[in-house]
Amino acid sequence: YYSDDSILFFDGDYMKAKDAKTDLYGQSLHYGYAVFEGIKSYKTAHGTRIFKAKEHYDRLRRSAEAMLMPFRYSTEEMVDATYRLLEMNQLENAYIRPIVICSPNMALSKGQKSYLVIEVWNWDNGYLANKMRIMTSSFQRPNPKAFKVEAKVSGHYVNSILACQEAKDRGFDEALVLDENGNVAESSGANVFFEKDGTIFTPAKGNILPGITRATVLEICKELGIPTMEKFFRPDEMQGADAGFFCGTAAEIVALDSLDNVPFVLDWEHSLSAKIQQAYRHLVLEEDYAYLKTQPQYV
Ligand code: PMP
Repeated sequence: YYSDDSILFFDGDYMKAKDAKTDLYGQSLHYGYAVFEGIKSYKTAHGTRIFKAKEHYDRLRRSAEAMLMPFRYSTEEMVDATYRLLEMNQLENAYIRPIVICSPNMALSKGQKSYLVIEVWNWDNGYLANKMRIMTSSFQRPNPKAFKVEAKVSGHYVNSILACQEAKDRGFDEALVLDENGNVAESSGANVFFEKDGTIFTPAKGNILPGITRATVLEICKELGIPTMEKFFRPDEMQGADAGFFCGTAAEIVALDSLDNVPFVLDWEHSLSAKIQQAYRHLVLEEDYAYLKTQPQYV
């Protein structure tokens, strides 16, 4: 993720990552009491562009507020700092990881002092071409009565690590994690969609991190005239559907091969989901995706 030359943003300063220090006595390290974001920038025809920068930094602030953390940065300040950081690190296609850390304090009460760190690293490999084999996880997503699941909190990701590793240990690529009612929620680090008879379905909000990519997919569908439905559903409704995909800032849109070894029916190339994947690529590269609507496959 970083080399000797990497520069990060450390609460107002830009410094070498290797010189940055944090302390070992703090709520963030001990209790997972930190909030963060995952953002991407792309090399576009108009220069380097951070995709949905405002939406991500607004969510970072909302996450900090939900966790009762002090937070003093405006979205504009954070966006400006990130562009500067990308330039200093000479990055175009990059992953951007802001994190709000609460320290020093070890009490089980709200953070007294927080600082913002922004790290950036190269992310050149575009979207994942391989289709994923996924399995229903034995772990549930954090219960919304115990956690604020709409906030992107570091501690929640222990659940993601358990679910993802379980899937890998059983020979799958990723996990499909259910909520406490047994409905499909999301993956370890992405939202989920499936396609059936020309409609695109995704879990309703309530037990998921409502992703910015998820919102973008719904926007794209509206734009392209593809019907969508947000609802609660069981994994067996998704199993054997026409197509399925995970979506998130890092993963972008990644096709699913099968759920619990039951394949999705359509060839990915012939699915509406593939069109959505293409449209997303055009959007992140700031190309005009409206032209897609003129393509014969949309008629
Ligand atoms: N769900 C979880 C649990 C995630 O970690 C992510 C990645 N941030 C997402 C969904 C997708 O969110 P986004 O599209 O905003 O990256």
